[in-house]
Amino acid sequence: MTLIDDLCNFLDSSPVNFWAAETVRLRLEKQGFEHLDMRATWALKPGDKRYVMANGSAVFAFVVGDGGAAAPFDIIAAHSDSPGFRIKPHCQMPGEAGTRLNTEVYGGPILYTWFDRPLGIAGRVALRSDDPLHPDMRLVRLAKPLLVIPHLAIHFNRQVNEGNKLSKQKDMLPVIALEQQNSVDVIRELAAIQLGVDPDDILDYELGLNICQKATVVGDDNSMICSGRLDDLSMVHAGLTALLESADAPSVHTRVLAVFDNEETGSGTKQGAHSPVLRNILQRITLCLGGDESHFMRAIAGSFMISADNAHGFHPNYPEKYDPTNHPLLGGGPCVKINANCKYMTDADSSAAFMAVCERAGVPCQTFVNHSDSAGGSTLGNILTSQLPLRGVDMGAPVWAMHSACETASVFDHEATVKAFAEFYNLYPA
Ligand code: ZN
Repeated sequence: MTLIDDLCNFLDSSPVNFWAAETVRLRLEKQGFEHLDMRATWALKPGDKRYVMANGSAVFAFVVGDGGAAAPFDIIAAHSDSPGFRIKPHCQMPGEAGTRLNTEVYGGPILYTWFDRPLGIAGRVALRSDDPLHPDMRLVRLAKPLLVIPHLAIHFNRQVNEGNKLSKQKDMLPVIALEQQNSVDVIRELAAIQLGVDPDDILDYELGLNICQKATVVGDDNSMICSGRLDDLSMVHAGLTALLESADAPSVHTRVLAVFDNEETGSGTKQGAHSPVLRNILQRITLCLGGDESHFMRAIAGSFMISADNAHGFHPNYPEKYDPTNHPLLGGGPCVKINANCKYMTDADSSAAFMAVCERAGVPCQTFVNHSDSAGGSTLGNILTSQLPLRGVDMGAPVWAMHSACETASVFDHEATVKAFAEFYNLYPA
């Protein structure tokens, strides 16, 4: 299987954050990584391949280095979540023209890219268990096309193509059936059937919508890939692939892949980059290797992080939106993201380090800086540095239509990113 076929499978298996984490977990398990529970005691030795889950939606995998308790961490960080829609409790809205579901917007999707597409439902449900504080959490994926958000016909709004303001509550509700479904709780019913449980045992759920369109290679030269959730699952895939490729080769440094959740809403959850979740895990690794707080500080001081989140590729229709001299092209390789006001963690030291890694890997590296009149987004890097004073770089492969239901990236850039990440994980062989 080619790397790009593998990426497509990865994207298709990961309709929402929980499933992205599960896809990562399954691949880690297949390659001999063992699960560690934060509630248990740990024993670690060099070469051990382990992972920790947080909330079922974030994954932290590592290979213990040979360098002792103060061995630095070589970290690649990315995020599992993507903008979209979350189904509200008491979601069913039956009416004359069919049954709609009440939803809430998650993060910042481009709303109108979600119209008129077959949509599926995926996420997790919480089942009643013997221990009230620990419900039985189960993944659910209703993959068949179940929903559509129908747009209003142009005949009712002739100005629609001149710009059309959308209400998240009025315009964006999906229809699940033409029937008026008053009698059953349709979401609980569907989830219960899939899990083989009683619908009454489902105490709550966290379910999101996903487009049913699969990841597809596009272009006369097969150079592009179109898919939902490229931001940031393409970077998760690149980091994971590099880690799995390099995991069995001994390294002085401890190699870490950190897949956080909730980047799209500001990272402020216990499984997000603003929490101490990664810090706690790294600290435990040091302690398990017989180190103390000073070993940990030495390890952090020697560490490097690649914060991998997609960048805006230069759009052929909108050249005026981009910086005149730093606008990465799709197909030009991964790019370093730079901001004078420190919205990115990149500085000359860390960008030079990443560029040198790319050079060693034989791949090109581009630079992204915002057009000075536009604000731009934020990402994981400098949120994480509030928890850990790491050296590191914000980078990503360029994409078009970031936060569209279907984004576009370059096949070459993905291959180049994986090469650069593999080089990074192999910098300090033992
Ligand atoms: Zn992102």
